Amino acid sequence: MHPIQKFNGKARGASCRKMLNWAMAHPAKAAARQIDADEARIREIVQFTARSLETAHPVPFGALIVNTHTNERLLRATNAVMRENDPSAHAETRTVRLACKKLKRPSLAGYTMYSTCEPCAMCMANALWARLDRVVYGATIEDANRHVLQIHIPAKEVARRSDMRCKVEGPVLRDLCNTLFTHPNMQQAFRKWNSRKP
Ligand SMILES: [Zn+2]
Repeated sequence: MHPIQKFNGKARGASCRKMLNWAMAHPAKAAARQIDADEARIREIVQFTARSLETAHPVPFGALIVNTHTNERLLRATNAVMRENDPSAHAETRTVRLACKKLKRPSLAGYTMYSTCEPCAMCMANALWARLDRVVYGATIEDANRHVLQIHIPAKEVARRSDMRCKVEGPVLRDLCNTLFTHPNMQQAFRKWNSRKP
């Protein structure tokens, strides 16, 4: 390893330890800080996903992966089922796929995913296989189900019945996330989706 990499690694380790010690000494403040950080990240992914509303393929689903300890962004992507003609190209599964390719490893241990909507059973299972630390979502499966077909298994339930450990938290800024679904361009696009509600 190059000496500068070693130095950076050490510095990061020390700052993580410092952060952990502070969080243990001030649990209420740490929880409040976590809520602020989660809301900021959900706002960011809503903004990013909203950009699709002005394109030929609007989507209300977007996901973002950040380093759990440094909060540094790794990757973000939207649902591309219609764009790529791929029924598995949900935002969360696609983001995990792209993030693993970027890191050149199949594990996202040490990372947190933020999603505009509660992950479906496929995406939550994929998040567990990817070993994500946390998954934080905005709108719920029930919210999405007002517009498109859904598989009715809560993400927390998928995680609970798994050997892999992953904290699932939400809904966070649910109303804001729901505005992605109710946007007129999105409502018009849903009519062309094969998962539209009959
Ligand atoms: Zn999904």
